[in-house]
Amino acid sequence: MTDLARLQLATLPLLQWFGEHRRDLPWRKERTPYTVLVSELMLQQTRVEAVKERYTEFLRRFPTVEALAAADEEAVLKAWEGLGYYSRARNLHKAAKIIAREGFPQTWVGVRALPGVGDYTAGAISSIALGLKTPAVDGNVVRIMTRLLADPAKAGDSGAKKRFSELLAAVYPEEAGEFTEALMELGAIVCVPNGPPMCGACPWSTLCKANLEGRETEFPQREEPKKRRVVYLNVYVLKAGEKFALVKREEGLLGGLYGFPAEETEEGAPGRTFGSLLAVKRAKHIFTHIEWRMTGYLFAVPKELEGYLWATREEIGEKYALPSAFRAFRKWTE
Ligand code: SF4
Repeated sequence: MTDLARLQLATLPLLQWFGEHRRDLPWRKERTPYTVLVSELMLQQTRVEAVKERYTEFLRRFPTVEALAAADEEAVLKAWEGLGYYSRARNLHKAAKIIAREGFPQTWVGVRALPGVGDYTAGAISSIALGLKTPAVDGNVVRIMTRLLADPAKAGDSGAKKRFSELLAAVYPEEAGEFTEALMELGAIVCVPNGPPMCGACPWSTLCKANLEGRETEFPQREEPKKRRVVYLNVYVLKAGEKFALVKREEGLLGGLYGFPAEETEEGAPGRTFGSLLAVKRAKHIFTHIEWRMTGYLFAVPKELEGYLWATREEIGEKYALPSAFRAFRKWTE
């Protein structure tokens, strides 16, 4: 069976299942394009439970797009409190001003052009609010599609999002908004991301290729963990009386932040000498793609050397936010 044929067969059972099992969520009542815009922006990167608490209150404060457009930014940010990622609130406010002036856009392209709206959100709003057959494919939809089709796409593969969008666009039913929500709902409560999917409760159990092959937990396939580049560093903690030498890191990792003087080196290469050596310590810090293996040297120097910023223990704690990569050597200043 082709992927398209399987997806075609999957459409109706999913809609029926959604009709019976949809969760009763506040934004699913009394919908207008404006309320869909609010809920979709709130739901970006935020748990449903957190949005539930804020959504109703937000709409009570700003019941219409005109009310939101006319509000002060501070009042909007205040009503957003607890949801985090405040740029979304600012974007929503800007979008409301545009809509109050020009009306709600009527196409995917128009919705996508609103501030804060990416491909996924544009697909969701266009289908749910305008009834357009525009898929909204995020990580959840990628997951359920890779399982339904036993597709080898890796989680986070942006090519897969595009491919699945095209496949879905070809089968979108007239109930476009319902279908978008049904896909999201299946990913949220049955074909879940953490822990095994609940295939016994799934409307696709007899259609889903991964389930039929007993391989449902194998999809989506994992990304190969990227190898981290190991960088060796000598770190110098120089102490002159009560003060310690700091430098502002120029560029690259932690650029613009203050740190102890440090230099990249070869594995096992000895460090430089400044005054009397008091201690040596090794430490490691792991960034996403790089691992620092550091050798720290604590030196007492007779006077404050040129070219450094000299700071007391208190200043290091309060004024110069030292990155946690240097935490192991901070102890020498305490
Ligand atoms: S049958 Fe199982 S793996 Fe397949 S879509 Fe349903 S819950 Fe996910």
